[in-house]
Amino acid sequence: MKLITISGLDGSGKSTQIELLKAYLENQGKKVFYFHAIQFGLAGKLSGKNKTGESKSVTKANIFKIFLRRIALLIDLLRFKKLRNKLRNSSYDYILSDRYFYDTVININFLGGTRKKLPCENFIIPPNTAIYLQASPEKIMSRERIPDQGLEYLQKKKELYDRYAEIFGMKTIDGNRNKEEIFEDIKILIS
Ligand code: ADP
Repeated sequence: MKLITISGLDGSGKSTQIELLKAYLENQGKKVFYFHAIQFGLAGKLSGKNKTGESKSVTKANIFKIFLRRIALLIDLLRFKKLRNKLRNSSYDYILSDRYFYDTVININFLGGTRKKLPCENFIIPPNTAIYLQASPEKIMSRERIPDQGLEYLQKKKELYDRYAEIFGMKTIDGNRNKEEIFEDIKILIS
């Protein structure tokens, strides 16, 4: 069973690519599990839902809340390991992960203003293919659905993403193109 993850800024086009990939693999007769790391995560459940039923995006947090997020991540990593075993036993061929625990680490470090390695990072299961969909904040803000955190937030966060993509060994894909072109690159990466 392969684990493929797509990380990146809010609005960079991750869900769009995951949908394309899911349909593509299912067309080949593969059994595919869609996994959304943020919806799965305990932190999102604690921070509540917005009007559309999505987890609220948090752009600031105090030391205590960051500590709780680190604990939540550790628990999520254990929960994910269990889920992966279950899926493997149910003969799934792929887990497609919309965001991954890498994104959670980036978010915790963003909120905490730190770039220190978190101890729980060692427990993150390395994906078979970890993709970083790198889109410019300006491009994202010109799209149909605009993230509610605004341009400045995206710009700051992109700096972290660019840095962590290297640290985590993610494959960077240029997300500033049309979705079909991006998907062609993804197909090559997973083959
Ligand atoms: P994410 O999952 O990263 O938050 P989405 O896939 O939901 O991003 O895409 C955010 C918005 O951008 C949506 O309105 C989507 O239709 C649009 N979009 C996605 N990919 C592209 C692309 N390559 N070019 C232009 N718009 C795109």
